[in-house]
Amino acid sequence: MQYDAIKRQERLKKHLQRITESGQISHGYLFEGPAGTGKLTLAKIFAQTLLCKNSQLQPCEVCSSCVKANADNHPDIHVIDLEENTIKRQDIDEIQENIYVKPYESEKKIYIIKDAHKLTVQAANTFLKTLEEPPSDTVIILLTINAHLLIPTIVSRCQLIKAEKESVKAIETLLISEYHIDSQRARLLSGYSKGILQRAMSIEDGSINTLKLRDEMADIIDTLLSRSHSAVFEYEKYFEQNKDEIDEIIEIMMIWFRDILFFKVGAGERVINADQMALLEKQSLKINRVKCAALYTKLQEAYENVSNNVNYRLAVDHLLFGIQEVKNG
Ligand SMILES: [Zn+2]
Repeated sequence: MQYDAIKRQERLKKHLQRITESGQISHGYLFEGPAGTGKLTLAKIFAQTLLCKNSQLQPCEVCSSCVKANADNHPDIHVIDLEENTIKRQDIDEIQENIYVKPYESEKKIYIIKDAHKLTVQAANTFLKTLEEPPSDTVIILLTINAHLLIPTIVSRCQLIKAEKESVKAIETLLISEYHIDSQRARLLSGYSKGILQRAMSIEDGSINTLKLRDEMADIIDTLLSRSHSAVFEYEKYFEQNKDEIDEIIEIMMIWFRDILFFKVGAGERVINADQMALLEKQSLKINRVKCAALYTKLQEAYENVSNNVNYRLAVDHLLFGIQEVKNG
């Protein structure tokens, strides 16, 4: 795969190319960007370039190393994706054991670790030792949605590679002009893009589930607004199951209530969830404008609480009760 597999991110791609071209390769890289940025693809292309036999700028696609990398069976590129909530100590032990083995057929071997923020503190501390004294032929690439979620000593051992952001308006324009997406859909996708075109495209093709979560949130908010306090407890299980996506869920709620506020002040043209206009209108009739504006602070608090590991269930309950309080009367 070559860098043009990733939309935009030109500055970042150039930066990665300068690194491989210079031959000054660090032992640790930390790729940071929201879900849907293409971090894994970028890390794989970067890794493939490091091992390519013909080019230091981007994969030549024809050498034996590139062919294997493209087939995802290069013996010196290891992608660690445990698909569990945490990367455990034993997995780290395994990496540590193997990391001191020489590369099979390349000059380097590369470990790409997805969702590095899911390393447990214990595993992270063990792993840190590997980063402090890595074998000279090893490159470790950590991927994360947010560098602040990792222990700072790990971050300081790595070179940070951050996904670039653009204005939401710029992305909306691009979606319309270059991808021929209709204006309502373009507004929706760009509104949830966090300023990253690749993310907007991933929402569109369903590889990230923002719109499904948005629909579930709209339903939950609807129920909370029409029922008593007991409704809050019925959603505890849902929020427990979606704990990993709580940041995303809170951001979706922020955009939803922002839309309701726009609707209430007659600025419907600024609504992002324009495909849900009828539901927004129905809910806006039940909601008090001043209280809705105050809910914003509660959403920000919830965001901070869940990031700081405050009792998760309490933080969620507090937020859901807060949503019920925005009703008129
Ligand atoms: Zn090659």
